[in-house]
Amino acid sequence: MRLNRFTIVSIIVIAMLLLSGWFYIDFVEDSMRALKISKDDFNFFVYKWFSIALILSMIVAVTLSNYIYNKNNKQRMYYKNIIDSSSNIVVVVDKNNIVNVNKTFFKYFYKYKTLEEFKKEHSSISDFFVEEEGYVQRETEGKNWLESVIENPKNNQVKIVYDAKEYYFTVGVSLISEEDGHYSAIFSDITKEKLYQQELEHTNITDPLTKIKNRYYYNVQIKKESSNANRYFYPLSLVIFDIDHFKKINDSCGHDVGDAVLIEYTKLISSHLRDGDIFCRIGGEEFAFILPYINKSDAYKISDKIRAKVEAHKKIFAITMSFGVTEYIKGEDLEVTFKRADKALYEAKNAGRNKVVVR
Ligand code: GH3
Ligand code: MG
Ligand code: MG
Repeated sequence: MRLNRFTIVSIIVIAMLLLSGWFYIDFVEDSMRALKISKDDFNFFVYKWFSIALILSMIVAVTLSNYIYNKNNKQRMYYKNIIDSSSNIVVVVDKNNIVNVNKTFFKYFYKYKTLEEFKKEHSSISDFFVEEEGYVQRETEGKNWLESVIENPKNNQVKIVYDAKEYYFTVGVSLISEEDGHYSAIFSDITKEKLYQQELEHTNITDPLTKIKNRYYYNVQIKKESSNANRYFYPLSLVIFDIDHFKKINDSCGHDVGDAVLIEYTKLISSHLRDGDIFCRIGGEEFAFILPYINKSDAYKISDKIRAKVEAHKKIFAITMSFGVTEYIKGEDLEVTFKRADKALYEAKNAGRNKVVVR
């Protein structure tokens, strides 16, 4: 048996009880002798054995409580070891404060060595939650994060930033002691999966050559924007545009120069768009703007400004572009909108190129 603090104290207490009992009985016997009371006196007999019984029962009580303490302690250590060996962050909390954490907690919040150190600066792990849509917030409509997760366990993704590093977790909360109001919150790290998913999403919607959005993104966004425009009654314009005589660049300077022109001019165009404008490469040298909140006369102005910037740029190879502009008509099929813009582009080409035509 390993000696812990409680066992050592118990041994000392038992030794003191034995010693003081010994001295006490000795003292009583001496007093009896001095007072010349016979050892066979009944009262003395009861007195002596009562004292011995009292001391013995105290010794039994101390031994028993030591045994119970050690057993509980062993059990506590057993569960603590299980929780510490988890690669998930385990946090015991009441509604407002952290009560306990496991070892893994300090692998993430590595500047703190103990929970006490952490608590000097923070009362909750939610101090590190990033307030972004789709993630558990520190507080929603007056409810703290714990209540939100208990109420809506499916909304369980947490984004944490600590020491400029981003982590993603899913969190599960369960009540562990009704009496104390203690909950366990288990944070499982999904950072790797999340980053992979984000990369995949980015690849899915990004044109590998020009790094602007691709045709897939165009299809998704035009559907989304047209349904929003229908619902909220705002204008939505579509512009389809195409490099004039692009084939000539490939033929005269080679495909690589053609690629460099695509990269150079998409960069130029991106730098002249507003935040909400959506710019996509929908074909080899064919592009689209989806312009929410813009009617077709403003779409014309935006397109003509871009047309002029492209014409004036003259980097790598001087090019021009032709533009077909139209406005989405509420409720119409998107194919119809697209065909109308494409027809306008065709007319711009026929009218001599480097032009913007509105239909
Ligand atoms: P127009 O003014 O009528 O649009 O004439 P154009 O030569 O631009 O049109 P056309 O459709 O005849 O040719 C488009 C060319 O674009 C043909 C194709 O080889 C080239 N192209 C398509 N994608 C790429 C690309 O990713 N890189 C390069 N370098 N060329 C491409
Ligand atoms: Mg072309
Ligand atoms: Mg073309």
